[in-house]
Amino acid sequence: MSEEAVLDEQTVAGLRDEVAGTVLLPGDDGYDEARRVWNGMIERWPAAVVRAGTEADIGPVVRCARENRLPLAVRGGGHNVAGNGTVDAGLVLDLDGLRNVEVDPDQRIVRVQPGATLADMDAATAPHGLAVPTGVVSSTGVAGLTLGGGFGWLTRPNGLAADNLLSVDLVTAEGSTVTASETENPELFWGLRGGGGNFGVASSFTFRARPLPAEVFSGNLVYFGPEHWTIALQAWERWTRGLPDELTSIISVLVPPPGWELGGEPALIIGFCWALEDQAEGERIVDRLRQAAPPDAEVVEPAAWVQWQSAMDELFPKGVRAYWKNTSFDRLDDEVIAVIVARAAEQTWHGTAFDIHHLGGAYGRVPEDATPFPNRSARFWLNIYGFWNDAADDAARINFVRGFATDMRPFATGGQYINFMGAEPGQDPRSLAVSVYGPEKLERLIALKRSYDPENLFRLNHNIQPVE
Ligand code: FAD
Repeated sequence: MSEEAVLDEQTVAGLRDEVAGTVLLPGDDGYDEARRVWNGMIERWPAAVVRAGTEADIGPVVRCARENRLPLAVRGGGHNVAGNGTVDAGLVLDLDGLRNVEVDPDQRIVRVQPGATLADMDAATAPHGLAVPTGVVSSTGVAGLTLGGGFGWLTRPNGLAADNLLSVDLVTAEGSTVTASETENPELFWGLRGGGGNFGVASSFTFRARPLPAEVFSGNLVYFGPEHWTIALQAWERWTRGLPDELTSIISVLVPPPGWELGGEPALIIGFCWALEDQAEGERIVDRLRQAAPPDAEVVEPAAWVQWQSAMDELFPKGVRAYWKNTSFDRLDDEVIAVIVARAAEQTWHGTAFDIHHLGGAYGRVPEDATPFPNRSARFWLNIYGFWNDAADDAARINFVRGFATDMRPFATGGQYINFMGAEPGQDPRSLAVSVYGPEKLERLIALKRSYDPENLFRLNHNIQPVE
């Protein structure tokens, strides 16, 4: 696409006639809030923000962007770390108003509108004793999370959020709606389970839900100081080798915020979630880890699913400054542990953190070529994330994230997760996409992109360019 145009009054009037939602222009009440996304480092001034009022509003906005050669940002929950949910001098399609979730408890099927957050979906499914596997911070959007993959507390028993998709309704670059599932447009369905927002605007997602106890046995074992971190990581590595699928665990390393009762020292926290009714079995499994690496503190108790899913929310308010990087790895031996512990000790501030997700289970049994999501054989996935408030800290926090990612490069086993990637302006999109998907999957994604979006209208994302 070339020669991007401006949005003139006539076009705005036409758009206002066509959509049920609101068209916000610079200077309008609410424009300033509507132009912002979760990552406070991203400052953009769109020509207009269209807050969709119904699913039918999506088509006119897509057509308006295409016909007027306006850059188009598509926003679900707005959590994209690279800030792709807003744009200078273009259109933002804000789906925040479309948050309806319909649950069919008998069939265990959940239909979700594209502005729903994880909290919206959990609130609708929990009363039926059901959950859809998603992520761990409930204000995240279902749309962006699912189109990229979606790691969380049910990844080992049930796979990624994308693995639990049954179908997606998608508005294409031409403004028409198609359904993608295993039986309808299966190649498109393949691409939507990890390929991000490259192929169109999802107007609804249909998921398979799983049964979940009213309370899940979950909690955190906490360790202080490099010596205890080393023991904990060694014990966790051994423990994760023999775990049943129903136990998912994630290590988080951070300086706890002032409101937490853990003091201001850097802490290594082994969080876990046991997704079965039989809590005694969960307790026995966690006790094995506790014996091997006695924690310095712990909070371990059954919790309602929605409570556990939102326990970390307060750490991530809208407007924090953010830069993230991630890598998969398989080895967690003394050499790798030494790198991790050194970086953990360096992190004396509250404002960066890192998580190590233990994978395998259902995630690992999905055949590699069944979705574009990279590296199903990875044992662990590391997400290094900055979330600070003061612009004066930008360089130091970004350097920490980059430095740690560089340290881990020798141990990386391939692929990157697009949803844990910050903005990398200036980096060649093709080589970035190769580093995410690998060359073979990227070729398949490019072919799909050429079919559905040859002009690259949907390019404000982790972009797959429709060129070889
Ligand atoms: P948005 O910024 O609204 O959208 C992200 C991108 O998705 C858009 O730029 C667009 O390209 C595309 N998109 C959005 N809606 C649509 C649509 N309807 N149709 C087509 N394309 C669309 N990820 C995990 O896997 N697990 C986690 O536990 C997790 N925790 C997180 C916690 C925080 C605090 C944050 C900030 C992020 C977290 N993430 C996690 C990453 C998260 O998955 C991504 O940030 C994701 O992009 C968020 O989706 P969104 O809809 O909120 O974002």
